[in-house]
Formats: sequence, C-alpha cells, structure tokens
Amino acid sequence: MPTPIVAGNWKMNTTVGEAVTLASALRDPLDAIEGVEKVVCPPFVSLLVVKNALGDSSTAVGAQNMHFEERGAYTGEVSPPMLADLCSYVIIGHSERRQHFWETDEVVNRKVRAALEAGLRPILCVGEGLEEREEGYAESVVTSQLRGALRRVDSIATLAVAYEPIWAIGTGMAATGEAAEAIMVAIRSTLSELYGDAAAGETPLLYGGSVTPDNVAEFAGQPNITGALVGGASLDAGRFAEIARQFAGG
Ligand code: PEP
Repeated sequence: MPTPIVAGNWKMNTTVGEAVTLASALRDPLDAIEGVEKVVCPPFVSLLVVKNALGDSSTAVGAQNMHFEERGAYTGEVSPPMLADLCSYVIIGHSERRQHFWETDEVVNRKVRAALEAGLRPILCVGEGLEEREEGYAESVVTSQLRGALRRVDSIATLAVAYEPIWAIGTGMAATGEAAEAIMVAIRSTLSELYGDAAAGETPLLYGGSVTPDNVAEFAGQPNITGALVGGASLDAGRFAEIARQFAGG
C-alpha cells in the first residue's frame, strides 16, 4: 500500500500574510501526524513564504497549476523548473482548470509529462460532472480522462491520482465512500492495464469533494482510497489536521 497523501488545495484564497499565518498554524499539528504525506498547495505568490514558514517540518508544499513549457513568451505563466525550486508537488487538471481555463486532456497530458520531467510529483485530478454521473457514464469519463492524461507517460512511480467528482467539489455533497471506492477500483484497474499491477498498487488514489473531519472516515476506511484532496476544509488548520490524522488511523 502506498503512503496516504492528504493535500490541501487553498485555491485562490489567502493573501501572502494569511498564507503565512495558516502555514504557521499547521506546522506543529501536522508534524505530530506520522504515516501520512501532508501537502499544502497555496497560491503561487505564497509558495516561498509557506515553504519558509514550514521550514524543516514534514509537510510538503505543492502548486495548484503550472504551464508545460520550461520558459518563454507566456506572460503570466509559471513553469515547471520555477516550481521545482519552491515545491515538490503540483496539482494538475483540477476540474476548475478544465472548466474555467479550458484545459483539455491534451493540455493536462503535456502538464503531467512536464511535471515528471521537472521532478515534481503530479496530483492528477479526474472526475465526472453531475449529468455524466446521472446518465451512468462516471466510470468511462474518469478512465478516459486518465488514459488521456497519461499518454506517452512511461512511469507513474511518483504520480498520485485524485478522483474528484465535479458535483461534490465545494458543494457539501460528498460522494459516498462506496461510490468513490467503485471509481477508485476502475482507476486502479486502468493503471494496472497500462503500467502493471505493482505500479498501480503503489499509486496513491485520493478522494476529493467536500471532505470534512465529519465524513473523512467513510473514505479513509475504503481499501482503494489512500488519501484526500481537500479544498474548503484545508483553510482551517484544525480541520485539515483532523482529516490528515484520520488517514493516519486516528
Ligand atoms: C478541491 O478543491 O479540490 C476540493 C475538493 O474542494 P472542496 O473540498 O471544497 O470540495
């Protein structure tokens, strides 16, 4: 079994000062939790101060996005080598990027490959919309996104996959543990088909979508769910630490 990952996606929240305050509040409580990889993903502008605030603690830093090119005339963008100096993880293909910034499977694929090349651990997000779920296509949408994102990717040794049903993100309507587990099984079997059972078995599969300290046990108790990607609840140090603690076994 892979080490579980509990990652906080702060999205477009926190000023630089607020990010330092939150990171400082998280430092000791997260350090006390063993057996879980803890990751915080602040906005780009706060990566350095959060890294400094966490210092030599066991909590890793991640970015929420990146461009796939190394450098050049891409005004406003941030490249993989720039991030590699600041953090070790990067969220790729979040549904908000796909929805509001028109990221296609092809773009997500280029980003996954660029992240791996730069030595960053991608947290690759996949997930279906409400209509797709209601029409019975959840599994095929997710596995097709996964195949698209992993085209020409040779090794998934450092990859984590986050299953985030779009209808569950920020809505307070989390999936049931059972429904999330069913999709994780499909993800695991697609990874097995592409990379073999050993590599697939070692890949952390995170659930994301309205995870809170109150419902996290439902996900942490599933055999194929090895972590969580947390949005809203990651902005509160106590709630985020409690979620990580439950993935460590309480
Ligand atoms: C997310 O942003 O990835 C997310 C899962 O958000 P929330 O926990 O707020 O639903």
